[in-house]
Amino acid sequence: MDASAFEKLSYGVYIIASGCSDEKNAFVATTAFQVTSEPLQIAVACNKNNFTRTFIEIFKKFSVSVLKQDYTPSILGNFGYRTGRGVNKFDGIHYKLGPHTSVPIVLDDAVAWFECKLVNSIDVGSHILFIGEVMDADTLTDDTPLTYTYYREVKKGKAPKNAPHGVAAPKDEEPKFEKPLTNNIKSSTMKSYECSVCGYVYNPAEGDPDNGIAPGTPFEELPDDWTCPLCGVPKSDFEVKND
Ligand code: FE
Repeated sequence: MDASAFEKLSYGVYIIASGCSDEKNAFVATTAFQVTSEPLQIAVACNKNNFTRTFIEIFKKFSVSVLKQDYTPSILGNFGYRTGRGVNKFDGIHYKLGPHTSVPIVLDDAVAWFECKLVNSIDVGSHILFIGEVMDADTLTDDTPLTYTYYREVKKGKAPKNAPHGVAAPKDEEPKFEKPLTNNIKSSTMKSYECSVCGYVYNPAEGDPDNGIAPGTPFEELPDDWTCPLCGVPKSDFEVKND
């Protein structure tokens, strides 16, 4: 089988939320799609280990927010690369409650949203396919919606571990180094730093070639505008990794 064929499938990038005003959670999904027009229904694939799964099963409703192409990276870091267990992902997030079901709907960086009542759940193995009847929907802006292809090929993003598809991480391109290599002895004593949002580890010996950071660059010498290549948060969200 040619696994790269899966990379030719098209996806969007969505925030799926569920719960109520007091208890809520949300995750980033690439598989949300309209399945019928009569009735109006949308299906969402949710990993069985996903914390939001429980919310959808208990509250029997969910919302779909369509992200814009020019999204704020931290919104994916917040909703896509960490669990909501013990964390309120909605802190500092602009959202509202759906007019029909009171389901939370994320508005930040969204071009449109759908409010859905859960009408069916199908066990499809690693994931559950939740099917919702659309109770309401709205368009917020005319911005271009984000596609998974754009996220992967232009933003160099990687799929969250609970993503349903078998798309491989982007292949390394020719490195574009802004800094000369330093010696290996120095790099072996430099500390690794871990992103507190998504868990990405910056290894100074490896650098971040996709973003012009040469192997051997200490974390402390990264440009101030360098951000986590996985979720996009700034350097200030990194902590020393103690092995
Ligand atoms: Fe990160």
